[in-house]
Amino acid sequence: MAQADIALIGLAVMGQNLILNMNDHGFVVCAFNRTVSKVDDFLANEAKGTKVVGAHSLEEMVAKLKKPRRVILLVKAGQAVDDFIDKLVPLLDTGDIIIDGGNSEYRDTTRRCRALKAKGILFVGSGVSGGEEGARYGPSLMPGGDKEAWPHIKTIFQGIAAKVGTGEPCCDWVGDEGAGHFVKMVHNGIEYGDMQLICEAYHLMKDVLAMEHDEMAKVFEEWNKTELDSFLIEITANILKFRDSDGRHLLPKIRDSAGQKGTGKWTAISALEYGVPVTLIGEAVFARCLSSLKDERIQASKKLMGPQKIQFEGDKKAFLEDIRKALYASKIISYAQGFMLLRQAATEFGWTLNYGGIALMWRGGCIIRSVFLGKIKDAFDRNPQLQNLLLDDFFKSAVENCQGSWRRAVSTGVQAGIPMPCFTTALSFYDGYRHDMLPANLIQAQRDYFGAHTYELLAKPGQFIHTNWTGHG
Ligand code: NAP
Repeated sequence: MAQADIALIGLAVMGQNLILNMNDHGFVVCAFNRTVSKVDDFLANEAKGTKVVGAHSLEEMVAKLKKPRRVILLVKAGQAVDDFIDKLVPLLDTGDIIIDGGNSEYRDTTRRCRALKAKGILFVGSGVSGGEEGARYGPSLMPGGDKEAWPHIKTIFQGIAAKVGTGEPCCDWVGDEGAGHFVKMVHNGIEYGDMQLICEAYHLMKDVLAMEHDEMAKVFEEWNKTELDSFLIEITANILKFRDSDGRHLLPKIRDSAGQKGTGKWTAISALEYGVPVTLIGEAVFARCLSSLKDERIQASKKLMGPQKIQFEGDKKAFLEDIRKALYASKIISYAQGFMLLRQAATEFGWTLNYGGIALMWRGGCIIRSVFLGKIKDAFDRNPQLQNLLLDDFFKSAVENCQGSWRRAVSTGVQAGIPMPCFTTALSFYDGYRHDMLPANLIQAQRDYFGAHTYELLAKPGQFIHTNWTGHG
């Protein structure tokens, strides 16, 4: 009876595609879904002619699984995951494995991991990235949780994951408990940042250089042959070129109000919670919030004046290169900040994270896939203890090489009244991080002045002093 290598619960778009991917790689998958009729639909249509088997109850599904049993959940994040876990546990034996591949919050994963460990069940929370296409042909997979499960799922996970270079899989063990979902969350935050940076470059091209869409598309195509080579730059070129059925470009017709599902916000909240200056992702989230105030902005645009519109009279080609370098440098800052957050989370939760491995997991299969991530992997290979990406020789010189352009792009944009929250916050972060002395001495003095919060002297760190600043009692 036991014939299936693994079961997958959740026959929506992600689950179906992941099943077909596993089937392509020679694994026998047993499919199940809350609405059971979808199992037969799937077997009769998408999975027709494959080795996929179906089950009409959890009992039947469990009976069809080889031991240790492996069950992947790809259902709506939240209560649905807990409900299925509760139903599965009585049917499973010690050493069986439950994997949650949905977009669960990392703290939920930690909670589930602990609760199931107490019951002898191994729990894995895995980030799955790359959407429908990734799930079908090779996602980026970020599994974390109970490490005892890893040897039992490694072959399947690495088999179906995206491959880069000489066939390296974009999947490795991330770390304990909620680490896999934390890394997936940061990945999504970085995606917000990358997208906003591209939007700022587009805004500068459109409103400072007054470029047409096809011309901008060509620039992005060219950029895709440089250090910026990435999925998001590639699709941006395609989007800019795209014409609607009336023959006109579609992009300018799209309402400029960005949606969001919350994972960028979660990253920004974590950054605030753990005190890590992940400013770029924060600004990217706020930029979407500001964009969504469309009606209010229309009113404001009629009242609030910006600088007088001036025609760009500089060297257009040179300014485009300035924008490209501003984008590249800002992107380096964003990833440096993202890895700072990962490092802090590792400290908070006692995770041992393999930073180079994480860069490799994001190198292919997912939305932020890029050549650039290979450089991050190289940096952590050179020095696994690297404190900050900016301190790696490659990235240090890359940013230095971009610096002049970056400052020119930002100052020109500021003069022209173009909002560039991510370009500017990245530059401020760089300038802040490289300053041994910041004006925070004044903050300390102010805090002590009004609240007797005390301060340390540079010459005597660790000793906290209060001064009577006013001379009053
Ligand atoms: P989804 O729309 O998030 O979820 C649909 C699936 O969840 C269906 O199988 C549905 O069963 C089941 N479900 C919903 N509520 C349930 C409940 N209360 N109890 C039991 N089952 C319930 O599907 P998806 O887009 O394929 O995503 C699956 C997971 O992957 C989600 O966590 C999602 O965030 C994550 N994810 C999605 C993408 C993407 O591009 N879509 C990318 C990465 C990760 P019924 O058929 O019975 O309704």
